Amino acid sequence: MGDSQLNFEDSWKLAENNYDLPSEGKNASLLTTGNGYVGVRGSLEEFGSLGIQGCYIRGLMDTIVDVRIPHSDNLYLKKYYFDEDRLKDFETQESIINFVDILLIRFEIDGETFYPWEGTLISWKRTLDMKTGCLHREVVWENSSGDKTKFNFERFSSFSDDHLYCMKASVTPINHSKPIKVISGLDLRTKTVGQKIQIPVNSSISGNKLFHETLSGKTYGFRYYIGVCNNLTSDAADDFKYDAINDDSILANTIAIEAKEGCTYTLEKKIYMITSRDTDDDIIKITQKEIEKLDKVSYDKLLVQSCLVYNELFDKLDIKIDGDDEADRAIRFSNYHTLISINRNDSVHGLSAKALTGEIYNNFVWWDAEIYQTPVFMQTMPDFVRKFILYRYRLLEQARENAKLEGLKGARYPFTSGVTGKETVWSYVRHPFMQIHISSDVPINILNYYECTGDEEFLINYGMEILLETSRYWVSRVNYNNDLDRYEILKVTGTDEHHPYVDNNAYTNYSVHIVLSQTTILFRTLREKCRAVIEKIGFKDDEINEMVNVFEKLYLPIDKTTGMIPQFDDYFSLSRDLEIHGGSTAKSFQMKYSGLYNESQVIKQPDVMLLFSYMNLDFGTPAYSRNWDYYEARCESSSSLSYSVHAICAADMDQPERAYQYIMKTARLDLDDKHGNAHEGVHAACAAGAWLTIARGLAGMRMLKTGVSFDPHFIPWWNKLSFQAVWHDIQFYVSLDNQTLEIKVDKKANSGLPVIVQGEAYHIAVGEKKRFLVGPKVEINL
Ligand code: BGC
Repeated sequence: MGDSQLNFEDSWKLAENNYDLPSEGKNASLLTTGNGYVGVRGSLEEFGSLGIQGCYIRGLMDTIVDVRIPHSDNLYLKKYYFDEDRLKDFETQESIINFVDILLIRFEIDGETFYPWEGTLISWKRTLDMKTGCLHREVVWENSSGDKTKFNFERFSSFSDDHLYCMKASVTPINHSKPIKVISGLDLRTKTVGQKIQIPVNSSISGNKLFHETLSGKTYGFRYYIGVCNNLTSDAADDFKYDAINDDSILANTIAIEAKEGCTYTLEKKIYMITSRDTDDDIIKITQKEIEKLDKVSYDKLLVQSCLVYNELFDKLDIKIDGDDEADRAIRFSNYHTLISINRNDSVHGLSAKALTGEIYNNFVWWDAEIYQTPVFMQTMPDFVRKFILYRYRLLEQARENAKLEGLKGARYPFTSGVTGKETVWSYVRHPFMQIHISSDVPINILNYYECTGDEEFLINYGMEILLETSRYWVSRVNYNNDLDRYEILKVTGTDEHHPYVDNNAYTNYSVHIVLSQTTILFRTLREKCRAVIEKIGFKDDEINEMVNVFEKLYLPIDKTTGMIPQFDDYFSLSRDLEIHGGSTAKSFQMKYSGLYNESQVIKQPDVMLLFSYMNLDFGTPAYSRNWDYYEARCESSSSLSYSVHAICAADMDQPERAYQYIMKTARLDLDDKHGNAHEGVHAACAAGAWLTIARGLAGMRMLKTGVSFDPHFIPWWNKLSFQAVWHDIQFYVSLDNQTLEIKVDKKANSGLPVIVQGEAYHIAVGEKKRFLVGPKVEINL
């Protein structure tokens, strides 16, 4: 039926109007339903093409065998990217495990199974309704005998109970009364990329209820247990018989229907999933009890319960753009993916790079979590960030081990984090091991959390230990340069992966400076209250003096005359002939390039520009403007983490057209499949960046210890934008147009909000609304 590009039907609905087999993978990622605990790709209930079905539970990881490109084909890849020896063999590594396929619902019409690629599709429509978090499908299908049948499918992941996934499917014979068979249950074979090692344990069926237990694999052997109940109803009949299939591949009920033309038969399928990572209680008993209850509750009631939670959360994240439907919808879609990416209710696992929309990147937690994803939640739903930090806190002991392994002190977090906190990244890819900036990203997130929430208790009980241990790591990791009497950080990979093994990477050095200087201040202020942690980790006074000594003498690269910040030592002396080295546009990806990046100034993603935007370091406007012009031109943007940074920089620099382009690139990255890999999963950190492009970019909102500051830059052809945020438990609402910034403090807030608008301090009382004139600015030309 032709390419199925997803289009917005209205502000909340994203629709697919055709079935197109090649688009299945991409649309399965985009149409994922989830609640942060579970993610279910938007695959088809009757089972679509191979390689795209997917259902993941956060932290349900084990060992997989990775099959990969056997050799690297250019010097750059050989020398800096891949470890040739390790490439010669398969690698076993940790990864998310693709759960059994819970979606399975199949209809047979007179013995012919409905598959979209067989028979004739008369009409097809799938809709993701972001108002409810539901995925709908309506199909009219004609089989080879000319029998026309209508199918409706609907499903959602519950926000009121993490473990619950609900489905509804109905079948209506249009021009026939042929027998219909419904098959509903679990497809036990996993069907996505990579080889998964799974050990089936136990399956059972009792009437309309199915139970299945499996282990995640051999390394961790996490148990997971699923219960399903099927309920078929119809106005025409109500005495359906639930037969069983229970073999190696399928565990399901089959229900035979003597169908009547024009009658609708509706199946409700409720799935309860739980793992041994979630509780010490008996997961079998819990599931059986829940399934008994669910058997008696209607799908519609469960949907209402879920929506009550879902809508409240979505409101906190929602951004409304008046005057530009395209931007309004694309950002809402990004926010949908941001909302379903976070594990809200426990600290078992953190935010991962593809969230729970695909297996690529193994569900690892990267620096994306601290720098791109948590900032959104910190300013909207800070409780979830606390849970996330506790995941890092739980793995602190392993981080200490990681530092010891390097012969260093303190704690060193893994660049990609999984179950244990050991470095889990692909061992044949060299440079991520060098991205030790993760050990400044983790504490920076804690510092930011404290600024946004003022949550001193959490800081004292958990945050401070991480701050002090990562500071210890940095003090032992820096190198003293005798000749120049300064500390340096040598042999690292910054955020730009095109330049591995560099000295004095700007992002790393500046972020370490933030950690050491801020931790010192907090330590001095809260010292008495932090006695317990000081004793626990044996932190000595001398260590604070060392920290001060290091950050005061830490080399912070900048040319004081021009304001230019070199991304690392000698960066500016590399070739500027960008064409030779792969071009400066995001047309293809690093693996395909023959250019030797390390000899050129082409960068994969922003590094220096993060300091100005996400890190909010103030180097003055001329320096900002110069660095922006320079680095934007050299950034290939082959990491999706580039776009939101660039949107913020363009907004700060009062360049609305550029800001707009980057906002749209951020928000539409996967909708337009700009990087050609949306089928592998949604770029969750890029999606989160969309919220920041508006709040930090256009509204210029920064959360400080003393209040919230705004320095707005509007897109002149929009009418208005509005969103809400929370600072120190004070909920407030922001709206912005070309002339005015309006801030209203919630009438239930405990106190008023200190704000700084374009440098001037104000106070907005509880329930009060204040308007500020913030006119258009003049373009800065250096
Ligand atoms: C980027 C990293 C990022 C990772 C996961 C890579 O392509 O270069 O900065 O952490 O993807 O999103």
